[in-house]
Amino acid sequence: MRFYPEMLYIDYPQEKVAGKLYEYRCQLCKRLTTDINGKIENHDVSCQYRKQNTYFEIED
Ligand SMILES: [Zn+2]
Repeated sequence: MRFYPEMLYIDYPQEKVAGKLYEYRCQLCKRLTTDINGKIENHDVSCQYRKQNTYFEIED
């Protein structure tokens, strides 16, 4: 188990959620930005952005 330093990951590609005025989500894994909350581990495991920012796979 690897612990990430306290930093925000907010430079992922985002897109607007259809029909929602102020909601955005990750363009790659479709998780809401409010759910991701700047944390890399809140992206889907298969998210390309998460993979690019993860140095090795976490398996447990
Ligand atoms: Zn993502």
